[in-house]
Amino acid sequence: MGPLTVAIKSIFRRLGQEIVVPPPTSHRTISLGARYAPELVCMPFKVTLGNMIEGLERGADTVAMATSHGNCRLGFYWPAQEIILKDLGFQFEMIPINYDRPLEFVGEFRRFGGGKGWKDVLPAFMFGIRKLLALEELEVLCMETRPRERESGLTTRLFRKWQAAVDNAPDSSTLKQVRQQARKGFLEARAESREPVARIRIVGEAYMMAEPNVNFHLQQKLGDMGVETERSYWLGKSVVRAIRLDRKGRREHEKAIRDATPYMRYPDLCTGCQSIGETIQAVRRNFDGVILIMPFTCMPEVLAQSVMHRVSEDHGIPVLPLPIDEHSDEGGISTRLEAFVDLIVRRKQLKSREALAGTGAAHSARAFGRGPTTTERLGAG
Ligand code: SF4
Repeated sequence: MGPLTVAIKSIFRRLGQEIVVPPPTSHRTISLGARYAPELVCMPFKVTLGNMIEGLERGADTVAMATSHGNCRLGFYWPAQEIILKDLGFQFEMIPINYDRPLEFVGEFRRFGGGKGWKDVLPAFMFGIRKLLALEELEVLCMETRPRERESGLTTRLFRKWQAAVDNAPDSSTLKQVRQQARKGFLEARAESREPVARIRIVGEAYMMAEPNVNFHLQQKLGDMGVETERSYWLGKSVVRAIRLDRKGRREHEKAIRDATPYMRYPDLCTGCQSIGETIQAVRRNFDGVILIMPFTCMPEVLAQSVMHRVSEDHGIPVLPLPIDEHSDEGGISTRLEAFVDLIVRRKQLKSREALAGTGAAHSARAFGRGPTTTERLGAG
């Protein structure tokens, strides 16, 4: 899942364990997972099943799988995957890691740690998390730099260079230096004369957002079209939030859930509500559009999608739902993205022409079909 491999590799190596890294997710990985998974299960199940098969083929004897108490299918992934893989004849131990329970979560790493105690496990864990946060910062720098890059392809080259430097950093002080140099390098890669054509916020299902080999390199594609993007989900932040170290992130999360309340009666019960709240936040933060990325049969995000057109109308922001499954093809995704970017760029131009002509935002909202808000429809209070 995105840069998680580097972090997990670092933690286990520090604990003296041998790590078998499966090959990066490819067409073969997805085909393998889709072949042995139940047909209608969500896509991350299929992809991670394919990753497990490829890791076991390389000789792994233990599989660690994230799980949660959430109200979607993630909690069922590991037992179902264990049954499927054992039916296929693989011999291994499956270890679920529950990131809803902070102490248990960190404690699970002790089980792999070859008898190491907390004094070894905690620093190894924190160093792995620092690497994860560093890699995610590199992704943010890419999202800001790519639409402004002074030479085509420079952002991608810088990303690869600094990604390898983070992976190889042996200690925290080297990691700190790498982060500082990377920030400087990305700033220097920007051309002062270039500004993004639009700003898009990406919301939706966490796995699809974080794994570029599954989301068809969405961030890179948009960046190459001159769009600055921002992702609402970061794995590093969510781990830090799970271990209760990120109060600001927790407050933002709670606020997003509150914002979604007019659209969902029981917002706490559905992670898709977060996507609704984050879309409303995107309006306040002047984004030009929102992309809702989701696996085709994802339960929480299908719920979010069902009310997203109303959120879009009420708040006057274009939203592109982007369901992806193993049958999606790159050409189709690119065409939809190009059409969406065209739409929001023209909308932005129209709005600024109206502002210049003094007709105001109200007319522009009407031109794009903005009706009364849900609160207005339901009546005050
Ligand atoms: S959030 Fe959606 S895709 Fe992810 S595990 Fe749950 S149901 Fe599946």
